[in-house]
Amino acid sequence: MPRLAGKVALISGGARGMGAAEARLFAQEGAQVVIGDILDAEGRALAESLTAKGHEVVFTRLDVTSERDWQHAVDLAVSRFGKLNVLVNNAGISAHGRIEDTTAESWDQVMAVNAKGVFLGTKAAIPAMRRARGGSIVNISSQLGIVGTDITSPQYSSSKGAVRLFTKVTALQYAKEGIRANSVHPGPIVTPMTERRRADPAIRDLQISRIPMGRYGEADEVAYGVLYLASDEASFVTGSELVIDGGWTAQ
Ligand code: NAD
Repeated sequence: MPRLAGKVALISGGARGMGAAEARLFAQEGAQVVIGDILDAEGRALAESLTAKGHEVVFTRLDVTSERDWQHAVDLAVSRFGKLNVLVNNAGISAHGRIEDTTAESWDQVMAVNAKGVFLGTKAAIPAMRRARGGSIVNISSQLGIVGTDITSPQYSSSKGAVRLFTKVTALQYAKEGIRANSVHPGPIVTPMTERRRADPAIRDLQISRIPMGRYGEADEVAYGVLYLASDEASFVTGSELVIDGGWTAQ
């Protein structure tokens, strides 16, 4: 039996990187999937390639900072597939630099996408999940939402820390309605987001020196954790933090 048989899932930032890995895995495991992203061409191409393999996947343009886009994406899941069971708040942007190099504009932009986007997605999804008599919300934070580092930008870490605690508030406010919420905390992963930093030997070596397993993670290694939390296998799991970081936060 596929692990997400009968589930309808909405994945933000699903056009590439970890979100795309989750979209592929969810579809393989029997879910009907709505991919939401601002990357129209990539998102459409992914949805078409999965549809060609016999899966039920649609793309919609979703800017996670827009309440209207979120409503449209949730409405699409319900009109196309009949309901919404799973939301993966995956969309995110990174930023680099120390506090004194950080502009107020960059702070606002990162917080808008990474933190406010998770709030808006959750707010839009809850009524549909209530109608479906429960659901699972998986919020992609980071290992940098748990620990600080001297090489991390303040707005990125702060946004991911916000996601971690917002997840717990969601879990507590909706536990009685069978809507679960958990956060996932990946360490450095091979995706387009980390491409530039992985290509710089100094940064790459510094990052790898902080990962006890001595390597970057792969998108699928995170997607399998997200799959577990999305599925009914995790039916008693809410408010938890799943760390997938090669040991970074164990130190
Ligand atoms: P990525 O850049 O490869 O993919 C992110 C996706 O989010 C892209 O498709 C992008 O278009 C989309 N996106 C960005 N802004 C958006 C917006 N306003 N509305 C909708 N979509 C938007 O990055 P990734 O590495 O796959 O990251 C996925 C998530 O994992 C992010 O939240 C990121 O912060 C987090 N994360 C990444 C790493 C890592 O090392 N790659 C580690 C920990 C956490």
